[in-house]
Amino acid sequence: MGRRKKIVEKCERLMDKPEQIRNIAIAAHIDHGKTTLTDNLLAGAGMISQEGAGHQRAMDTEEDEQERGITIDAANVSMTHEYEDTDYLINLIDTPGHVDFGGDVTRAMRAVDGALVVVDAVEGTMPQTETVLRQALREGVKPTLFINKVDRLINELQEGPEEMQERLQTVIREVNELVRGMDEEKYEEGWKVSVEDGTVAFGSALYNWAVSLPSMQETGINFGDIIELNREGEEGIAELRERSPLSNVVLDMVAEHFPNPLNAQPERVPTVWRGDDETQLAEDMRLVNKDGEVVFMVTDIGMDPHAGEIATGRLFSGTLEKGQELYVSGTAGKNRIQNVGIFMGGEREDVERVPAGNIASVTGLKDAIAGSTVSSVEMTPFESIEHISEPVITKS
Ligand code: GDP
Repeated sequence: MGRRKKIVEKCERLMDKPEQIRNIAIAAHIDHGKTTLTDNLLAGAGMISQEGAGHQRAMDTEEDEQERGITIDAANVSMTHEYEDTDYLINLIDTPGHVDFGGDVTRAMRAVDGALVVVDAVEGTMPQTETVLRQALREGVKPTLFINKVDRLINELQEGPEEMQERLQTVIREVNELVRGMDEEKYEEGWKVSVEDGTVAFGSALYNWAVSLPSMQETGINFGDIIELNREGEEGIAELRERSPLSNVVLDMVAEHFPNPLNAQPERVPTVWRGDDETQLAEDMRLVNKDGEVVFMVTDIGMDPHAGEIATGRLFSGTLEKGQELYVSGTAGKNRIQNVGIFMGGEREDVERVPAGNIASVTGLKDAIAGSTVSSVEMTPFESIEHISEPVITKS
């Protein structure tokens, strides 16, 4: 069996096991390394080639984005990861890093259960870090922290182990102050990020290594080793990468510390959806009932040269299948699903069906726009959108 076919089968098996699914977003100030990190996670998980990582910019699908070097439109990627002898399906929804795209960030946050907050070790938290963190918390999304560009502390700023630890502690403190300021209750409940809990990792997305407290305990690598290996130049960095690859460390943290849909949806549904919580529909959404009515929240519309418009989003309840006729919020009549798919790396793969708890991509929803609620019964939508002949969005 070909490698790709094997990955598709693995993803399809995992799709039916919500305990092993993590739906996450990476939230960062622009230039703090979200794209480089994503590429390396995908490469480490075997979804794109190692050589391509850092250059491929898998998340930047629009030509315009490539040219401008900023991520505008949310793109989506999925990967599998083995942690403690269990396979996980990790669905990553991209959030725009640019200040002007606040609405899109909120929408992406509604579709995920965990936010990996990336902060540049040299710059520390920045205004956009605060904005995306606020959006995550407001939507009930739990944060963990990755402190990036640690190589710069060593190579450019020539910091020793104490200075380096102090600087990392400063970033952690800044993030925790933001979390505490935004939601004291959640902060006390365990949303505070900490090295000891394993909810903080740090490293270099550019050079593809990372560490966390659990990883340091496992590999025996300490601060002194990190500095020494970085100063040795290419060979030392290659050793560090080999012993403590970024994707392992970060995806272990994702698997361990972010909730799966079964744990997340009972809490998140009342936060992201304003409908009647006493209905069967609400119950189906809370329980991730794949046999319930279809409730699909569209986060993004993409263009595929062959398949046409593709609606991607979070399936809160029910099972999506080809041929279903579904309501699209704010429009009259129904749309018929042509194909359903999931992401593998940055590419879409058609599958027979997608059950609740997953990020799905669907063709045939011609009336859907980013933000639409697509469902098998008429329902209160996730957000009100006014359809004016062309997809101009006004949010209420
Ligand atoms: P984004 O805007 O958050 O997606 O950031 P990018 O991933 O595009 O990274 C912005 C710049 O920082 C690029 O020039 C990257 O090569 C660089 N960069 C990313 N991660 C690291 C890192 O770990 N160390 C160093 N030194 N540079 C990095």
